Amino acid sequence: MTGYRGRIAPTPTGLMHLGHARTFLEAQRRAREADGKLFLRIEDLDQARCKSEFVDALKEDLAWAGLSWEPEVWVQSQRLASFREAWRRLREAGVIFPCSCSRKDVAEAARAPHEEGQEPLYPGTCREVEREFESERDALSINWRFRVPEAEVVAFEDGRLGPQRFVGQRDFGDFLVWRKDGFPSYELAVVSDDIAQGITEVVRGRDLLTSTARQLLLYRALGAASPAFFHCPLVVDTEGKRLAKRAGSMGLRELRARGVTVADALTKLSTS
Ligand code: GLU
Repeated sequence: MTGYRGRIAPTPTGLMHLGHARTFLEAQRRAREADGKLFLRIEDLDQARCKSEFVDALKEDLAWAGLSWEPEVWVQSQRLASFREAWRRLREAGVIFPCSCSRKDVAEAARAPHEEGQEPLYPGTCREVEREFESERDALSINWRFRVPEAEVVAFEDGRLGPQRFVGQRDFGDFLVWRKDGFPSYELAVVSDDIAQGITEVVRGRDLLTSTARQLLLYRALGAASPAFFHCPLVVDTEGKRLAKRAGSMGLRELRARGVTVADALTKLSTS
C-alpha cells in the first residue's frame, strides 16, 4: 500500500445532501492532485438507523455528483472481527475500562456544563472499578471507554485549518470505544478501518475536529502511525445554519430533479 490513499465514508441513514457532496468532492480533489486512490467506505454500524436502500441511493447520488471511487468498497458491518481485535489490543494495553453508566447518568454527573453538540465530559464514575467477566462475550456486552490522561495535550497540523490543539479532560473526556450492543463506537471503527485500509489522509467535515483528537490517542494506543488530516468548512445556508441540520432541503435527489448541478448549488452557498 503506497502512495496517497483517501476515503469517503458516508453513513447510510438517509439521502445524501449537498454538504456531503462538497466534502467528498474535496476528498476527491485531494486524491487526484496527489495522483492517489479514493475508497468508498459505508459506515453502517448503527443497525437501527442504517438501511440498505440508502446504500444504493448514495452510490447513485454521489456518482451523479461527479464522484468516483475504487472498485473495492468497504462495509463496516462486515468488519466486526477486526474491530473486536482492536478492542482486545486496547484492553490488553490497559487503556480502556468497562463502564455501566447510561447516557443520562453521564449527562447528569458531568463535571462541567457542556456546549450544545459537544459530548459532556465523562465524570469518571467507572474509571477505577475492577470488574471480572466470565467470557469475552460478556465483556463485549458492556460499554468500554478510553481512559484519557488528565491534561494530555493532543496537537496536530490540519492540512486545511492549520495548527490544532486539544487538552484531554478539558476538551474531551473518557470516550466510548465499545458499545454494549456489541458494536464498536464510531471512533474505534474509523481508526481501525483507516489503519487497515492504509489511509494516508482523512478529509472530512470540521465538525469532527474533536473526534480527531480522540482518534489520535487511539492510533497511539494501537501502535499505528496516524494519517494526515484535512477538515473542510461546513456548508451553511444564507442564514448561517449548518446544512446538515436542514433535513433533506438540499438533497442531491432534489437538485437532480430540478436540473441543478452540484457546482451551481455550491456557488450559491457560503462556508464556515
Ligand atoms: N461516517 C461519518 C459521517 O458520515 C464520516 C466520518 C469520517 O469521515 O471519519 O459523518
